[in-house]
Amino acid sequence: MILVLSDEERRKRKNKQNKLWRNTHKEQVTASKAREYRENKERYKKYRVLYWKKNRESLLQQSKVYHARPKNKARAKKQKHQLKISRNTELMEKIASLNNRPVECFGWPTYGSCSPGGTPETRTERLEFDHIHGGGHKDRTSSTGYNLGKYQWCNNQLKLSDKKLREKLQLLCSGCNQEKIRVEQRKKS
Ligand SMILES: [Zn+2]
Repeated sequence: MILVLSDEERRKRKNKQNKLWRNTHKEQVTASKAREYRENKERYKKYRVLYWKKNRESLLQQSKVYHARPKNKARAKKQKHQLKISRNTELMEKIASLNNRPVECFGWPTYGSCSPGGTPETRTERLEFDHIHGGGHKDRTSSTGYNLGKYQWCNNQLKLSDKKLREKLQLLCSGCNQEKIRVEQRKKS
């Protein structure tokens, strides 16, 4: 008996085989998809722009609904918080490494003098960015400063050249920072 398959049946069978192959060759599939994207990047880009233009309203609506769900809202908030913390840590690490120091209070007026035991503060949540030569107020209140949000502010500082960053910011614990402010105010009056 000769098995005669209709076009429809042949197509279904082929699809099934393809799916099986894809499931057992996941790495190959990923690689080929990536290659396809790389080779046709411009075309995909154009298509995305076109698709966005054509479906702008409904996409915006979709996104609005998505972000309004409490679960997604909470997650976004958490992610934003995480991002802020990680950028903060990144900036602290960079400042410390530029000064060949661990992430800790640099001490004021002298390094290592910030605790009675002589051990500097190392808890990042207790460390603050100190503007070495002032300008903190301007940085906090100007349109390029904290007003952008802490994340963006950190981001901008990270983009400064090493030299500029080293001269601009240092790490102080809140105790040392307060002490520095007190002394500077005394000098002024
Ligand atoms: Zn200190």
